[in-house]
Amino acid sequence: MFLTISTTGSAQRPATDLGHLLHKHPEKAQAFSTSYGTAHVLYPEADAERCTAALLLEVDAVALVRRRKGNSRGGAPDAALAQYVNDRPYAASSLLAVALGSVFSSAMRGVCTARPELPGTPRPLRIEVPALPARGGSDLVRRLFEPLGWTVTAEPVPLDTEFPEWGDSRYIRLTLLAAGLTLAEALRHLYVLLPVLDDAKHYWVSPDEVDKLLRVGDGWLAAHPERELITRRYLSHRWSLTRQANERLELVRLAEADDSEVEDLDNAVAQEAEADDEEKPTPLAVRRREAILGVLRASGAARVLDLGCGQGQLVQALLKDPAFTEIVGVDVSMRALTIASRRLKLDRMGERQASRVTLLQGSLAYTDKRLKGYDAAVLSEVIEHLDLPRLPALEYAVFGSARPRTVCVTTPNVEYNVRWESLPAGHARHGDHRFEWTREEFRGWARTVAERHGYAVEFLPVGPDDPEVGPPTQMAVFRLGTPKEAKAA
Ligand code: SAH
Repeated sequence: MFLTISTTGSAQRPATDLGHLLHKHPEKAQAFSTSYGTAHVLYPEADAERCTAALLLEVDAVALVRRRKGNSRGGAPDAALAQYVNDRPYAASSLLAVALGSVFSSAMRGVCTARPELPGTPRPLRIEVPALPARGGSDLVRRLFEPLGWTVTAEPVPLDTEFPEWGDSRYIRLTLLAAGLTLAEALRHLYVLLPVLDDAKHYWVSPDEVDKLLRVGDGWLAAHPERELITRRYLSHRWSLTRQANERLELVRLAEADDSEVEDLDNAVAQEAEADDEEKPTPLAVRRREAILGVLRASGAARVLDLGCGQGQLVQALLKDPAFTEIVGVDVSMRALTIASRRLKLDRMGERQASRVTLLQGSLAYTDKRLKGYDAAVLSEVIEHLDLPRLPALEYAVFGSARPRTVCVTTPNVEYNVRWESLPAGHARHGDHRFEWTREEFRGWARTVAERHGYAVEFLPVGPDDPEVGPPTQMAVFRLGTPKEAKAA
């Protein structure tokens, strides 16, 4: 069983980075023992322009049969010659996928401690599998890989080149090319789709395979047009597991669709806001995050609360800056937190990184001891989601009880809504907004809150500050005065 992964590069971005990504040195041939035989990793070519890593799995057919017996649920086909004389040692299949997953496990998770910037960057990739058993033929191979961004060549392998009249075998020679995928994505596609094409797993599929499939399928499987077939075959046609997987994937798909709707709305909003600008506009949500990060950095905060963190975009941005040593995202919505945790890849994060971030479920309408003692808190586009009569409760929970030194609050400026052609007059920007304030209303509220709780407050625009109607987003930054200042104020 044989598979090669190649990439191209240049002096600035050498192809040999592949060695870092795979955690396998290009100058060494290495062997790893697996329960079915030995996996070898070697590099037939390795220079700045081209680098190819080959994974060769030498299967011990006898060990395979012994294991299978150990795992099987009864039945006694021991003597069947087919168990010893079969294609398993030669064809790429679930064995190769398992070897990929164990030999390149860090690469598959997208971890590269030595060069952390590498795994997230797509690079030109070429994958070749000379003999892949493909039930469903080249047509299915295309339906599986093309939606993921691969250019597919799938040539049938003749049964015997000397006797073309015998026709084709059930094997294909597979070549995959992509420019827009990361190596981790590529490995995860192969890990799932090789056994799907083979459709004959060498091991007993247990219920935890559903978790594994969801983990490895993160980011690509939920919306895949062949999702049903993939889950069915991957889970060896076990009906209840397949149903379970599809139900969970459907939730993921809905959440992802939701997510892109929100981003699309923000993008559309920003485009309208800056229709005159020549350059590609920055989405308003991005500008908001940048403005918030600026405020937090200037405040010198290290331990930060993101209150109403939603799907975790700001938490993700905060994690990228080591100045923020502790980041806590709080939201009332479990669903938002689940999406946030997936976005942050909390389950696959290194220990140090993971120790910096916590996601908490909680309502801001109640005081919460867990929120005391932080340097700063952010309420980004949150207050307008509370019914006005609940707002004093939030005010007390944040400014009276949690009392971070800095609080940064953003909310839409309703005056700006007239600048959005797509927004019908009198409509809020979001169906769940309970109110949208003018600049005057927001400032009035913020000044009262500041005064009541001993904070000083200043106001900043986010987005283009229209001379007539102001900016699309308004921001208030509250700073806890020292007792003396508070008295003087
Ligand atoms: N801060 C994020 C999300 C804003 S959407 C951003 O700027 O993109 C508003 C979020 O506030 C939602 O995720 C919603 O679940 C949360 N939220 C609304 N009422 C809440 C409450 N009482 N307590 C905690 N979170 C609340």
